[in-house]
Amino acid sequence: MASRAGSSGASGSVTRFDAQVYATRLRRAAELARVEGLDALLITPGPDLQYLVGSRAQSFERLTCLVIPADGSTASIVVPRLELAGLGESAISELGLNVRDWVDGVNPYRLVTDALPSPARTAVADAMPALHLVPLADQLGAPPILATSVLRELRMIKDIAEIDALRRAGAAIDRVHARMGEFLKVGRTEAEVGAAIGAAIVEEGHTGAEFIIVGSGPHGADPHHEVSDRVIETGDIVVIDIGGPVEPGYNSDSTRTYSMGEPPTEVAERYAVLQRAQEQAVAAARPGVSAESIDNAARSVLVDAGLGEAFVHRTGHGIGISVHEEPYIVAGNTMALVPGMAFSIEPGIYFPGSWGARIEDIVVVTEDGCEPMNTRPHGLTVLPG
Ligand code: ZN
Ligand code: ZN
Ligand code: ZN
Repeated sequence: MASRAGSSGASGSVTRFDAQVYATRLRRAAELARVEGLDALLITPGPDLQYLVGSRAQSFERLTCLVIPADGSTASIVVPRLELAGLGESAISELGLNVRDWVDGVNPYRLVTDALPSPARTAVADAMPALHLVPLADQLGAPPILATSVLRELRMIKDIAEIDALRRAGAAIDRVHARMGEFLKVGRTEAEVGAAIGAAIVEEGHTGAEFIIVGSGPHGADPHHEVSDRVIETGDIVVIDIGGPVEPGYNSDSTRTYSMGEPPTEVAERYAVLQRAQEQAVAAARPGVSAESIDNAARSVLVDAGLGEAFVHRTGHGIGISVHEEPYIVAGNTMALVPGMAFSIEPGIYFPGSWGARIEDIVVVTEDGCEPMNTRPHGLTVLPG
């Protein structure tokens, strides 16, 4: 079993943690469900299923559903017989779950409710397709609620093996940024630069690229721009926001901003304010402070410099199996930070029609502060114009 350990620092074929990790997660999920007054959690394929049993099954029209009774009794997996083999990589057999496989013609929603009291108070994974939610709700006799409130308590706080995975992901994406001069060149299109970055994301240890933003010149002012046929020009400011998963499925996400040639003074001055805002937010992250106070730490620096209007989004998002998950670093989120929380700190400034800049690191809250997963220099990196 030790061969499956995810904490070794090795990447490659380790696609999940030891079964013991999932046994603990299932037990805690049941405990939290009980505290919420629920009878069961119903989890279809998606990040929650991956978190709970190490399965990367996909959702299809035939129902696959993990049933976790809140009373702590053994969980069941309802699965089409033809999908059974696909669960082989998960921890399901080692965990000794009840496997309720079904063949076409059987009502799989009955298989779910047969295991529950009636009416049952249930919560469903937020990735459950409406295709399954509606017939399931019909069969349950009582409408389910979202399991997000239960599962975020678990998923939000990373254990040592998860933090190790995030650290490896951070180091891998840092290596891609370190090579940016190879990819980002005047005369290439954003799409060409993006394709080269995508290959490097895999070369440096990710299993794939989850997203690639190459926002050059005016495109940099659109925070969620991807790539286009725009040709990189001398004088462009270019926002590069990239990431993807490393095994066993934890994501990187890092932004650096580049200048094709020496930047004009106004750009350099505004960028310096952004860099101070990002530093202040990282310095503010520690246990006990609220998520919104981290947003405010970055925002107040920009507001004081007259750049508040240019910062049009929240400061960050949690990250793990999903690129965007709890906790959100946003005004109004009074949740107190605790050790093990992992999230981005990514203030940006955007000047529509002209240029934009963003600096993004992932940090993990420690006992007395936070540990950045990304350590590339934060300044505006000047590449040959
Ligand atoms: Zn985003
Ligand atoms: Zn990003
Ligand atoms: Zn991000």
